[in-house]
This record gives sequence, C-alpha cells and structure tokens, in this order.
Amino acid sequence: MKINILQAKKNIGSREKFKFVTSTEEIDLVGEGPWISNEIKVEGELTNNGRVLKINGVIHATAKHQCNYCLEDFITNMEIPFSEDYQEVSNEEIDDETDLAYYNGDEIDIADLVRESMILAEPLKVVCSKSCLGLCPHCGINLNVSECCCNDNVIDPRLAVLSKLLK
Ligand SMILES: [Zn+2]
Ligand SMILES: [Zn+2]
Repeated sequence: MKINILQAKKNIGSREKFKFVTSTEEIDLVGEGPWISNEIKVEGELTNNGRVLKINGVIHATAKHQCNYCLEDFITNMEIPFSEDYQEVSNEEIDDETDLAYYNGDEIDIADLVRESMILAEPLKVVCSKSCLGLCPHCGINLNVSECCCNDNVIDPRLAVLSKLLK
C-alpha cells in the first residue's frame, strides 16, 4: 500500500488524494480481530505542509462481532480514521521527543499504519443494538427472540446458599 510522494515532496502546500482496496491478507490481519477479509477500502489525502508530509484518511472495513449480551453474531461496517506525520530520514540527529514517523525515498508504505489503526479500533465491548435485551440470567433464553417465564425474584442458587450461611 505504497503512496508515491515524489511530487508532494517538491511542492509545499500540495494535496493529493489516494485510494486503495486491500484485504486482511495484505495487511497481515488474517484471523486476528473481527475483520472480514474482503474489500477493506482505504482512502485519504497526502499533504505537504512544509514541515512534514501529513497522511490522513479513513478505512472502511466490515467486522463480524459477537454481541456481549445475547451472544448472537452480527455484522457492522466501521469507519476508522487514521493519520500520521512523516519526516524524511536525514543525517541530522533524529529527535526522539517527537512522535513523527520517517520516510526514505519516494514512497511511503501505509500498510503498518492501516494495520495498527484497525487493531486500535477493535471495540472492547460490543452490543448488537442499543435495545438488546440479552440472555435471561436464569434460563439462558435469548430475550430478543422470545420470552421466558422466569422472573427477577428467582434467587441464584449460589446466593441462596450464602443466605443460609448468614442465618
Ligand atoms: Zn445482542
Ligand atoms: Zn428465563
């Protein structure tokens, strides 16, 4: 996923758009995370602001998640923003204080940037919908699909043992 920066390097103030279609194979995310392989779209812009080459854009990816509440699988389209500033590697001392990335030559490969942005975008908690009712804690039925006859006054057997001990 290499961006040719030959022109952008020469022209301060230049802006160039780029677009890639990639896959989990290409960015080494096979079997890692919730991503569905086909057609990950990456689009963005390369800007020379005089100090650095700035790359920013959005990744359009599809993820298959399992709802934390009802345990059903569902598919979501995700838009993941990314951005990075690049400075040319020179013989000058590299300033470790800055969090700049470096480029060398006439192209910048954004595969690692895309990969890392996708890993960071993986949600810790996923719910299929705001109104998901989840599973009944007593009988385990999916309450989005059907109702059950349990009620909330049923005492968890483990708690029942505890309340006996406390008597
Ligand atoms: Zn759910
Ligand atoms: Zn139930």
